[in-house]
Amino acid sequence: MPPRLLLFDLDDTLWPCKPTIARAERILYDWLCERLPGLRERHDIDSLREQRKRLMQAHPEWVHDLTRVRRESLLALCREHRADPRIAEHGSALFCRERNQVTPYPEVIPVLRALRKEFTLASLTNGNADVRQTPLGELFDHAIRSIEVGHAKPHPAMFLAACERAGAAPEETLMIGDDPERDIEPARALGMKTMLILRDRPLPDDSRADLVAPDLRPLTTWLARA
Ligand SMILES: [Mg+2]
Repeated sequence: MPPRLLLFDLDDTLWPCKPTIARAERILYDWLCERLPGLRERHDIDSLREQRKRLMQAHPEWVHDLTRVRRESLLALCREHRADPRIAEHGSALFCRERNQVTPYPEVIPVLRALRKEFTLASLTNGNADVRQTPLGELFDHAIRSIEVGHAKPHPAMFLAACERAGAAPEETLMIGDDPERDIEPARALGMKTMLILRDRPLPDDSRADLVAPDLRPLTTWLARA
């Protein structure tokens, strides 16, 4: 069955994740330093990241809700500084806003524009980016986030939620992502076609994706033949 629903992972598939997060964290950190006196002496961006990591280890049930992890860590900081807990809410909202200020890889917008004439496009992410608030927002018919599904990839519920939302069977779906374990294998197991995006990484030895490419460009030709 030729695909009619295209499911896209976001981070490191459509834009580079690391610089996006680094920028948002820097903005949030400076904002917090203005409101929590002494923060700069106690924490830097790395130690805050360590704090979130510990929080996530203590609460594996939050794995699908990274925004909650961030908010809880900000609340802990507010307690530590005997500060107004509303700072945590506002800080969390600021981070989310900045997190959506992404810079897509160069081919992404033209390729998605061409594809959306023929296919249903949906995004599928475990992260706290909201594609509707990014420069790509207009190009997607559906946006599925782990925070709404209650599970994170590789859980099949994520992929099935996308199919249900778009009214397509797994066999009519192509999953495009950069992570063999979270994007490719679970989609394959459900009977979806898969495309692994490498960007500048080497090809993994055990890739079982139907299509492997450095970026999205070969997708249009491949779909025309599918
Ligand atoms: Mg990714």
